[in-house]
Amino acid sequence: MQLTGQDSRQLLKKLRNTLAEDGDGQERLDHITQLVSQSMGTEVCSIYLRRDRETLELCATEGLKKESVHQTRMRYGEGLVGRVAQEATPINAENATEEKGFRYMPETGEERYSSLLGVPIQRLGEVLGVLVVQNKEKRKYSEDEVYALEIVAMLIAEMKELGAFVGQGEAMTAPHQRAIMFTGGSAQEGAAQGNVLLHDPQIVITNPVADDPEAEKARLNEAMDQLRISINDMLDANKTNASEEHQDVMEAYRMFANSKGWMSRLEASIDSGLAAEVAVEKEQSATRARMARVPDPFLRERLHDLDDLSNRLLRLLTGQGQAIGENMPDNPVLVARNIGPGELLEYGKTLKGIVLEEGSVGSHAAIIARAWAIPMVIHAKKITLEALNGDTILIDGDQGVAHLRPDSDVKSAFKEKIAMARQAKARYAEIRDKPAETKDGVQIEMLMNAGLMADLPSIDSSGAEGVGLFRTELQFLVRNEMPKRDELAGLYARVIDAAHGKPVIFRTLDIGSDKVLPYFNPEDEPNPAMGWRAIRLGLERKAVMQMQLQALLRAANGRPMKIMFPFVAQFDEFRQAKAMLDQVVKNERKLGHKVPSELKVGAMLETPSLAFAPNQFFRMADFISIGGNDLKQFFFAADRENERVRSRYDTLNVSFLTFLEMICKRCFDLGTPVSFCGEDAGRPLEALCFAAMGLRTLSMRPASIGPVKHRLRSVDLEEVRKVIDAARGSGDQSVRGAMRNWLSKNG
Ligand code: PEP
Ligand code: MG
Repeated sequence: MQLTGQDSRQLLKKLRNTLAEDGDGQERLDHITQLVSQSMGTEVCSIYLRRDRETLELCATEGLKKESVHQTRMRYGEGLVGRVAQEATPINAENATEEKGFRYMPETGEERYSSLLGVPIQRLGEVLGVLVVQNKEKRKYSEDEVYALEIVAMLIAEMKELGAFVGQGEAMTAPHQRAIMFTGGSAQEGAAQGNVLLHDPQIVITNPVADDPEAEKARLNEAMDQLRISINDMLDANKTNASEEHQDVMEAYRMFANSKGWMSRLEASIDSGLAAEVAVEKEQSATRARMARVPDPFLRERLHDLDDLSNRLLRLLTGQGQAIGENMPDNPVLVARNIGPGELLEYGKTLKGIVLEEGSVGSHAAIIARAWAIPMVIHAKKITLEALNGDTILIDGDQGVAHLRPDSDVKSAFKEKIAMARQAKARYAEIRDKPAETKDGVQIEMLMNAGLMADLPSIDSSGAEGVGLFRTELQFLVRNEMPKRDELAGLYARVIDAAHGKPVIFRTLDIGSDKVLPYFNPEDEPNPAMGWRAIRLGLERKAVMQMQLQALLRAANGRPMKIMFPFVAQFDEFRQAKAMLDQVVKNERKLGHKVPSELKVGAMLETPSLAFAPNQFFRMADFISIGGNDLKQFFFAADRENERVRSRYDTLNVSFLTFLEMICKRCFDLGTPVSFCGEDAGRPLEALCFAAMGLRTLSMRPASIGPVKHRLRSVDLEEVRKVIDAARGSGDQSVRGAMRNWLSKNG
């Protein structure tokens, strides 16, 4: 059954013609199994399609018992066919019954066949089914035969995507039409209704078979040339200011784009009859399958590069999806595998919601989503493969659930949810100008976190008493090059103006970790969260920090100013940073610029070490701000960006609360004002417990001020304290349960 390129093209054409035939999906599938077994000289050809995420169903067969069609099912990983699906790689078995994992399915009559070749039917790395051929005689199928069957499987995948196999049963439903619910995690609460905006739009290929391989290769070559030119351009453009790592990635791209192996595999697929786009997708699927198996992170990154390159090539070949945010639908809900803070900022506040396949609560993309109060769901597995641009989507940020193409019941339940959220907002607006005072008269200062110009109107509308954390690095993240001092000074002045005399605490640059500046990227580090970041970088790259400090002082233009340094791990770092600031102040004076009428200098407490710093540190610092996001990550040694470990440790864990209490006490004893500006300050229950531990200033995203204030105003803090103490006394791991019980009993 050797298939030449010519035979293969003939077969693909015949298969494609089944698309044009009248008849339903079942007839098409039946016809395909006949054509394949005839042309390849096999006694059996069967097509198994995916029923749901875990099950395959026999949907058509030539050679096995017809009664078993739509009856025989197997789970992924079960039997040889299930194994092909699970591992996304072919199985070529000379004697199938002796193969590991073989499962006998009497209803099919397959015991008469010895040899089996199964290949995954996959598209963009997603297994949609399995294509199997079988023969009575014991034989190993040749490499050419495996390849030919893979080409056929690729075409079947494209045809499935085009809706060619719609028929009876779950396995034959139309693609991208079903209502699907994705259950993930919550990164920002709230409900949103809108239309899907894919970060990487799906490419639609309407004609998967090529009639003229030479013309197709010419098209591929042309697109390849364009790809190489664009990579060279990017390399040239970035030569001067890109980091070494960035250059390395670009060089890897260049290497792949010039790879003879890649090119010859693509040309071979075209010779077998596939259109250039489908040939690229075939390689991409193989890359993704490999990506899932490779444990080495460096190699995985390189495979990611190749995957990205395939996407670029597909865009060039199809002309689809060239620009970020192209074809923005109304009420866009961004759907992506993952997204960095810089990319998210590019989309801007117009987004109604965000759904990610990966992502994490502690990431800066999530912090931005929270700052903008955009509901965000993370860990919605495989949503990018199901969603199409413009699909209706509802997201429930409270539950971490996204409903794609929801039915009318879900839609009406959602309407109620949105209405309730609106009512709550109105309730919070009523207390906007009232103090956050507990029933027993403890007043909590409510500050807001900011970092973007778009946040400024919230200073008035949220009822914040000032800005407790202005993340200056966000201004650096939205640019392609280092901002200039005067530009920054203008920007900071606008922030101070917008605060109308309320205090603003500017935090100096906190880059590194997940906040990567393309033009100022530190070396590749094994663990960037614990690497060269924030103050560590500022003290070594003095020019950048001095420039920023100068911009801040000039923005104040004689008005009072508060500056804090991030990620101070030991006293000396603070001393050095403060000395640098003193020097900049001196120079400014010398240059005849006004200096702030009052300059308060603080430190962020984000590593446990600083809580144990000498008393002199606490006396030198004008204030301390607890960066709970980082502090918690280092306290529990649990990466804030890794949901698997992050979610193990509750913020209301007794050890953590006791640690916060200790910090408050030290600050109180030494007379250092202390606040908390991590994300947890914006969660009502957490805020309540922090207040009970002694915190009197909380800084949070603007949208949290209402709910937190509402909660604080409804309780007696002394009572809260008693509940926490009782929970601590009884050995509870977290006080959350006890607090919830108490709150539900006490309204
Ligand atoms: C923190 O770590 O809590 C903090 C406020 O800083 P960031 O989240 O920007 O690291
Ligand atoms: Mg931090």
